[in-house]
Amino acid sequence: RSSENNELLSSLEQANVYFQQQLRQHPARNKAVAYLKSRGLTGEVAKRFAIGLAPPGWDNLLKHLDEYKIKRPIQEKAGLIIARDPERQQERQDTHYDRFRDRIMFPIRDSRGRVIAFGGRVLGDDKPKYLNSPETPVYHKSRELYGLYEARKAARKPERFVIVEGYMDVVALAQHGINFAVATLGTASNTSHLEKLFRLAPEVIFCFDGDNAGRTAAWRALQASLPAMEDGRQIRFLFLPEGEDPDTLVRKEGADGFLARLNRSGSLSNYFFEHMQQDIDATTMDGKARLFSQCIPLIKLLPRGLFQQLMLDQLAQITGSQRDTIDRLLQQTPAAAP
Ligand code: ATP
Ligand code: MN
Ligand code: MN
Ligand code: MN
Repeated sequence: RSSENNELLSSLEQANVYFQQQLRQHPARNKAVAYLKSRGLTGEVAKRFAIGLAPPGWDNLLKHLDEYKIKRPIQEKAGLIIARDPERQQERQDTHYDRFRDRIMFPIRDSRGRVIAFGGRVLGDDKPKYLNSPETPVYHKSRELYGLYEARKAARKPERFVIVEGYMDVVALAQHGINFAVATLGTASNTSHLEKLFRLAPEVIFCFDGDNAGRTAAWRALQASLPAMEDGRQIRFLFLPEGEDPDTLVRKEGADGFLARLNRSGSLSNYFFEHMQQDIDATTMDGKARLFSQCIPLIKLLPRGLFQQLMLDQLAQITGSQRDTIDRLLQQTPAAAP
């Protein structure tokens, strides 16, 4: 098992070296470099994130890894190549083809810096925009954070992390000297992501895209955050103007502009009660009842501690209720499904 994992890791490492080489050497490099430049990236940052190029064609990487005696089943299990439909193989086609073709390649590294997967972006507006490695024995996407290895290399003891949606957000922020951004990999941020970050820094700020998907992701992230809210930890939310993401915003407003927004970002409790009160009138009796029934199961997910007590105080204040009443409700109500 672990020797197979080592083979997978070594094939991924080879692929990473190959993709970076192609960005320097392949005839298609000019288009790729022009694209990266058009997105504001310098060679230095591209190098720091080990960005590469999967050239056009169906079997570039495959042939390369064959030469390096990496067995096809390993290449396939690593998510680098895809088995062809057996019917098509009879037409004297190869048994496999490259998963990543004609894409800018972002290697995903684990906390030790080992390449465990890739994300690949088209150079234009084709679909799908991003293609990611599948789950493999060495890549469990719900556990990993893109950019965490690079962030830790930039600062051994960061004061905070920002969680963003995309590869380009992480890299663009780093291009502007903001080296503490990480991205979830096309999955919702979960409690284990937060536990990982809170082991390294006391503050985590969520900063999703200024669109409906981003706002939905923020509320989901809040819910997933609740069990991780030990006292002494801080979670905040930065909402971007409509249509912006961290990449577009930092390029417009610069590092200072983005940092100023980060410093003004709202607390979890503010966002929580604002969101809950959006369409509830807490001065009416049925409004209060709805507020209780929506808030209490979530507050119950918080670890017992000062923060939970303060949230209960706040709920009492908003509804004009006694803490006793709320404590009784808390006892009776089951926690929301985490
Ligand atoms: P860019 O700035 O390069 O256009 P983005 O990061 O702003 O891309 P979004 O559409 O905001 O792209 O998506 C956020 C993230 O979601 C991406 O970085 C990627 O990880 C993931 N993602 C987006 N589209 C796809 C897709 N078609 N398939 C898989 N993952 C995707
Ligand atoms: Mn988006
Ligand atoms: Mn985006
Ligand atoms: Mn973007």
